[in-house]
Amino acid sequence: MGAGAVFFSESAGWQQILAESITSAEGLSKYLAIDVKTVDQVVRQYPMRINPYYLSIIQSADDPLWRQAVPDAAELAVDPALEADPLSEAPQSPVKHLIHRYPDRVVFMVSSHCAMYCRHCMRKRRVGQGRAVSRAAIEKGIEYIREQPEVQEVILSGGDPLLISDGRLDDILSRLKRIPHVELLRVHSRAPCTLPQRVTNDLAALLASYHPLYLNIQFNHPAELTPASMDACRKLADAGIPLGSQTVLLKGVNDDPRVMKRLMRDLLKNRVRPYYLHHTDPVQGTGHFRTSVERGLEIMRALRGRISGMGVPSYMIDLPRGGGKIPLLPQYIKKTGRSRLLVENYEGEMFEYALGHGRD
Ligand SMILES: *Cc1c(COP(=O)(O)O)cnc(C)c1O
Ligand code: SF4
Repeated sequence: MGAGAVFFSESAGWQQILAESITSAEGLSKYLAIDVKTVDQVVRQYPMRINPYYLSIIQSADDPLWRQAVPDAAELAVDPALEADPLSEAPQSPVKHLIHRYPDRVVFMVSSHCAMYCRHCMRKRRVGQGRAVSRAAIEKGIEYIREQPEVQEVILSGGDPLLISDGRLDDILSRLKRIPHVELLRVHSRAPCTLPQRVTNDLAALLASYHPLYLNIQFNHPAELTPASMDACRKLADAGIPLGSQTVLLKGVNDDPRVMKRLMRDLLKNRVRPYYLHHTDPVQGTGHFRTSVERGLEIMRALRGRISGMGVPSYMIDLPRGGGKIPLLPQYIKKTGRSRLLVENYEGEMFEYALGHGRD
């Protein structure tokens, strides 16, 4: 269908593309066959933003890109097992817009807007709501980090930190860089996937001037690696910025070993190293995207040994009450003995592995 192509111009600047985003059910009905009443109801609770670029890559109703972008009636289903903030981000926030969960690193939410409002977003309760993060709030966050000598890494997140202007980004990064105990900078952004035009040569150069700086992006389906997105990854990788992907395991999008293998291989080809595969958090309004953990483990088993080890992410669940993230692994050890392990390899073949006499 490529409906968005109707008004999407490749040469427009990112701000202009963003400004032409569709935010209402009625607006969307001009391009996609949706149920206006349902979408309108959902949008009243959770904002929608589909920019012309992402609209242009949706191929058909309910395809993996549609599912990530177009509001679904299932978002309104109230599930008592789901919460608005299951990870207790709010209580672990010492100052506004900052989460300090692990001793050595903080998440600093410098933007409350995104290039698209993903229907599966775990911060659904807050993204796209309200005004931009104020300068005063940013100042407070930086002050907090300056006073916490154990903080060695600052992760810029949001919303999407790349939705703020180059000038503001430069200002924030330079002030963080001047704090002696901040050794590492990390940026979490979906822009290279949802609005690749944001990645200009200027932006790549700006980010590269703050090395060591890592950029983690979120690609959830191979069809998102369009020529424009691949070009964005190339600019960033050429600037020497290590790229990682934090893919979210989503029902009807990528909960299929074949799709996931293709995605991980395509990411590697674009110099993006799969980092995490996130099990969908139990967030209200996202229940229709959740798969079973068994499914996730089956996918992990299908990856290990069958694609480059560099393309195998860690499969993570985020614990409630701010317990942090832990990896889940398929069970390769079948039996543990005093001198031997019975293990299964990636092809399901059993092996005895001699333990010998370790020195511990
Ligand atoms: C995920 C997360 C981090 C980063 O964790 P890594 O395992 O280093 O990627 C840091 N702080 C919070 C609050 C997080 O949720
Ligand atoms: S880009 Fe990230 S923060 Fe923004 S809506 Fe999507 S998942 Fe949420």
